[in-house]
Amino acid sequence: RFITFEGGEGTGKSTQAARLAARLRAQGREVVETREPGGSPGAEAVRHVLLSGAAEPLGPKAEALLFAAARADHVDTRIAPALAAGRTVVCDRFIDSTRVYQGALGAVPAALLDALEQVAATSAWPDLTFVLDVPAEIGLARAAGRGAAADRFEKQGADYHGQVRAAFLARAAADPRRCVVVDASGDADQVAAEIARLAEARLAL
Ligand code: C5P
Repeated sequence: RFITFEGGEGTGKSTQAARLAARLRAQGREVVETREPGGSPGAEAVRHVLLSGAAEPLGPKAEALLFAAARADHVDTRIAPALAAGRTVVCDRFIDSTRVYQGALGAVPAALLDALEQVAATSAWPDLTFVLDVPAEIGLARAAGRGAAADRFEKQGADYHGQVRAAFLARAAADPRRCVVVDASGDADQVAAEIARLAEARLAL
């Protein structure tokens, strides 16, 4: 089974991905936890390029190509082999982030993103995607509260975050068999319990 977590900054994806992975392991499953951009050595190197905050950042089209290159390596070397071995893969961000950041926000044409998705992700398609949703203000405040140096994507204002949120909700609405929106404004325990319930209901996990 392949489970992805999606949503804007500060929605709690990393925390919830780790919580679900721990729960599945406690049930005796073999779980691979991973993330994008990154997840394999080559893809982590690409992540560094994407998030380094260069003086003149890449445009959305170049970004989409790099994300796709990273994803192809991540899928081929990590995700697809793990799925083939019967493991459960839990990934923090995947195809929907590309559709939101490079597509909806970056205006990269859907036809190009379709083609890149075909190349990079067809051998590993998520069975279930949790779209974590919080109001943009809460997400921004949480991301700021982490104290981590804001990467260039996180230096945007509330407007941008509102657009990110709307784009994730639109993605989820367009593919309701795969995607489920989770209200992530409660505390981590509440959200984890809801995710556990949904994983059981949707995938019998
Ligand atoms: O999930 P994480 O916060 O580590 O993601 C790093 C940044 O990369 C995010 O701030 C997000 O805005 C950005 N990103 C992106 N396009 C993607 C995936 C992530 O712009 N396809």
